[in-house]
Parts: sequence; structure tokens; C-alpha cells
Amino acid sequence: MTVHSETAGSTGIQAELEVWIDQDLCTGDGICAQYAPEVFELDIDGLAYVKGPDDELRQSPGATAPVPSVLLTDVVASVRECPGECIHVRRTADGAEVYGPGAG
Ligand code: SF4
Repeated sequence: MTVHSETAGSTGIQAELEVWIDQDLCTGDGICAQYAPEVFELDIDGLAYVKGPDDELRQSPGATAPVPSVLLTDVVASVRECPGECIHVRRTADGAEVYGPGAG
């Protein structure tokens, strides 16, 4: 049996990422919260917000939450399926969008 092990940061490929939602475009369908409930949640106003490890919604415009590497696949799926095209994932270090409508 082959055991694959990876030390965080050993490859240098996985940069630190953060995510934010443009609520002006959010349709409130809740797809993101289904894919990654640890990061996205609908508030009582019917719009999705990001949340951090403290489980508190971050509601100021453009507020970001970190994307844990174990949740990256789910967050990227949310970006791709989001009908409002309003989920943005960017590198924390320089703010460059890596997944979302503004990416490359
Ligand atoms: S998937 Fe997009 S449009 Fe739907 S609730 Fe989440 S942020 Fe809003």
C-alpha cells in the first residue's frame, strides 16, 4: 500500500486564500451553503454571507473569510455553481482573484 503524505506548505502551491461575496448579485438560492456550510450561510435577509472559524457571519461589504485548504474543493464548486457569479476567492497575500468572475 502506498501512503501519500503532504506537509502543509511543502509544495508552495497552496497559497493562503480568502473568499467574499458580492451580496448585490446574490440570488439567495443557497447553493454555496449546501456545498460549503462551514464557509457560507444564508442570513435572515435571504442573502449569503461568509463566515470564519468563529462561525460569525461577516456582513460588512466585501468582508472576507479564510478558505481552509480542506474546504477549497467545496468552495471552488460553490464559485462555479453560483448563479449570481458573486463568490470571489482571492490570494490573501496580494488580493489577486484566483476563482470567480474576476479570475484570470
Ligand atoms: S450560490 Fe451565489 S447566488 Fe446562491 S446564495 Fe450563494 S452567493 Fe448567493
